[in-house]
Amino acid sequence: MNTKKAFVVGVDLGATTVKVGIVTKSGGLLDQISIDARAKYGPSAVIQQIVFSIQELFGRYKPSECFGIGIGAPGIVSTVEGTVQHPPNFANWTKVNLANEIKSKFNLPVIVENDANCAAIAEATHGAGIEFKNFLFIIWGTGIGGGVIIDRKIFRGPHGGAGEVGHVSIDYNGRLCNCGNYGCIESYIGQRYLSQRTKDLLISTPKNSVKTKLEELIDGDFSKLEPSIISQAAEAGDPIATGVLEEAGELLGYALASILNVLDLRVVVIGGGISAAPAFVYEAIITSLRSRVLKSHKDGIRVIRTKLGNTAGIIGAASLVMK
Ligand SMILES: [Zn+2]
Repeated sequence: MNTKKAFVVGVDLGATTVKVGIVTKSGGLLDQISIDARAKYGPSAVIQQIVFSIQELFGRYKPSECFGIGIGAPGIVSTVEGTVQHPPNFANWTKVNLANEIKSKFNLPVIVENDANCAAIAEATHGAGIEFKNFLFIIWGTGIGGGVIIDRKIFRGPHGGAGEVGHVSIDYNGRLCNCGNYGCIESYIGQRYLSQRTKDLLISTPKNSVKTKLEELIDGDFSKLEPSIISQAAEAGDPIATGVLEEAGELLGYALASILNVLDLRVVVIGGGISAAPAFVYEAIITSLRSRVLKSHKDGIRVIRTKLGNTAGIIGAASLVMK
């Protein structure tokens, strides 16, 4: 790396939000732009958003001091080719060489990587995983994604598809998942499921004259049943919210036991929107994980929360260029 140059641009491309940031060599996020993604308008609209955001930041930070651009993207990403294929919820996006598209505008090195891998790399280099050589990273949000860190490096797998932890089945006769399999952990504890489960329980539970914390927070509007609200209600002791999150933690623990058995790992770092859940959820995860993992794998089991939160994607993307 050219140490004379001062920063890297990190891009966290999501179907909802495009985030672009200025990141220092030590992983500090100096500045960022966050805009609603125009994912439904096709690849060129999205590429334009990335370009404009970088240009805006280059108005505040000298481009001559930038030594590259790292991009984290969903879908099938080839870091070697710089391509992004079929990112979910992006319209008309088959296969795009995103690295070349951005390189042609800025004449800087551009590296593209899968978004979950970027967040895992960020936790390994600057976050909760810094003290561990090997760990499993989980993104717990709308879906469940993951990244495997072995010897402080991301393990991509021979075809770039490693880390699909959301599709570990906990019941072969279970719920049908989007992927076609049954009982995938994602279809039990992904955001939509948690919101739906909470709504069902709220409707079926007999009402008291005194409103529960959850009822108070959503005030009759079930669309407000986001994980942050469910967490907030659980923190205040709401029984339905507590039950839903505790059950989700327990189920995640079962899936993690299978993954840790296969990979011989002991540490799990959890990121994504639902990682902000109260501490009792982590206790539920650890209890069920420890009850199911092989005896030989039990020592040193840790399940910890992200340190970087929703900046992990940008910081991880930037760190691709820093090596
Ligand atoms: Zn699945």
